[in-house]
Amino acid sequence: MLQLKGIPASGGIAVGPAYLWAKEEFVIPKQVIADGEIAVQIQLFEEALIKTRREILDLQKKIADNMGQNEAEIFDAHLLILEDRTIIEEVISRLKKEKLIAAYIFQDVLKKYVQVFLKIEDEYLKERVSDINDVGRRMLRNLLGKSAKHFEDLQEKIILVSYDLSPSDTASMHKKDILAFVTNIGGKTSHTAIMAKSMEIPAVVGLELATFKIKTGDILIVDGASGLVFVNPDSQTLEEYRKEETALRNITKRFILLKDQPALTLDGKRVAIAANIELPDEIPSIIDHGAEGIGLYRTEFFYMNRADIPSEEEHYKSYKFVAEAIKPHSVIIRTLDLGGDKFLSHLEVPREMSPFLGWRAIRFCLARPDMFKTQLRAILRASAHGKLKLMYPMISGIEELRQANGLLRECKNELRSSGMPFDESIKLGAMIEVPSAAMIADILAKEVDFFSIGTNDLIQYSIAVDRSNEKVAYLYEPAHPGVLRLIKSIIDVGHRADIWVGMCGEMAGDPLFTLILLGLGLDEFSMPSIMIPEIKHIIRSVTMPQAQGIANGAFSFSTAKEIGDFVHQKMKELRIIQ
Ligand code: PEP
Ligand code: MG
Repeated sequence: MLQLKGIPASGGIAVGPAYLWAKEEFVIPKQVIADGEIAVQIQLFEEALIKTRREILDLQKKIADNMGQNEAEIFDAHLLILEDRTIIEEVISRLKKEKLIAAYIFQDVLKKYVQVFLKIEDEYLKERVSDINDVGRRMLRNLLGKSAKHFEDLQEKIILVSYDLSPSDTASMHKKDILAFVTNIGGKTSHTAIMAKSMEIPAVVGLELATFKIKTGDILIVDGASGLVFVNPDSQTLEEYRKEETALRNITKRFILLKDQPALTLDGKRVAIAANIELPDEIPSIIDHGAEGIGLYRTEFFYMNRADIPSEEEHYKSYKFVAEAIKPHSVIIRTLDLGGDKFLSHLEVPREMSPFLGWRAIRFCLARPDMFKTQLRAILRASAHGKLKLMYPMISGIEELRQANGLLRECKNELRSSGMPFDESIKLGAMIEVPSAAMIADILAKEVDFFSIGTNDLIQYSIAVDRSNEKVAYLYEPAHPGVLRLIKSIIDVGHRADIWVGMCGEMAGDPLFTLILLGLGLDEFSMPSIMIPEIKHIIRSVTMPQAQGIANGAFSFSTAKEIGDFVHQKMKELRIIQ
């Protein structure tokens, strides 16, 4: 039996067979062919062209039937690439001259083609790079006789083991097939980990040697709460974990009884408990867990796992659905927060040295006003059907907020003049997740209706620790005294300006920090829905003076560890935990 320790990313226990998942990467050897084989390779190449063309036409038809003609037209660009005489002739003439396999030459020709496109100062052409890469992958798959890999194709219930998983990979997992996952890299608040929690799949990330130490078929125990993974466990360990699993299920059953109770302290102070969602499919589950609304709808997932950018109508339908489904509660829709670890395959954003500090979120949206306004208009239109609030991510200064509000005003005027209804008093918020925004919260508070503290990024930026890097995960401390001071100041400044302050970072759903945040006066806690019953239980076990005493006490310590130990001890004294 082998025991590995990684970073706990999503709680729960899973036992099952491992399945090693490798990203689709084509390593094609520079294989020389004999003269007699040239014709065979040319024929292979031509057959692959025909097969790929047929696949794209089928896909195009499917999309036209399900989503509409406009959406299907995006594949015209893919077909044009396949029919491009320059590419086809270059592959054939080089094949004859260099006598190398077709797959190698095709990949090389395409690589050079991409390099030319990337040099052209034209956004539209640059975006075509993702089309070329997409067609290229299809062609190579057909040339090499491989079939596409999809999580949906996995037949058995397995534990996925991978070097890395992107948030869009995770979003396409089906809970019925995947019992848990473990990855070599990643941090606790990387979006892959966040998605795992939303889907209630146990996960351990940052398990550096996972793909080297684990083979497909090995039996694994994944303990998502402690970050432990056992490879081919002995019968005693299996037995212990089976018992643990049952105990966990009983605790969950006990907490879930509280799901419909309000988050009311013993002395009558009520706070709001909302859920974070990535996809509208999560709504039944968040209602089941007792969410009183949605405190963060991460809309960027709507742009993932598709070949085009969603139209205003699609945005509108999706937001309207969410608004109606969660009534009478409210939904905070966050505008597109692309970047960092959230990349979209069809929006080829240039690779950057420091993606978390780069061209992302509101910065990207302000540079693409048409795309941004499509989303803003859709949110406004959907606001006629429920209680919607709108929130911008990654605000770092007042100019960004004003610029975004300028576009929002334009959208409102456009809708008014075309007679489209929307909520004229829709509430507007800024995420406070960049330290500079926290420092100027008083300035920002004058131009928004609420704040939502995004601790996932606020911690990353204030401690200067990449949230998705397992090597520095030990520094990623929500209770770092510097972080706690920033949080206290944001809440105090917000309240002085008479606006409410919520939190939608993972810290809001971490039981260890509930009492501090409650004591500091946080108005809304928004979290992965699975955490809601336990957080309600904690809030319902104390009075406000007790929580305030704990929050004040926390400020007397100098390290996150001391603060964590102190809160743990207090929770024991209050019999919240054993
Ligand atoms: C955050 O940064 O805390 C947050 C909630 O947003 P995201 O995790 O999507 O960056
Ligand atoms: Mg963030």
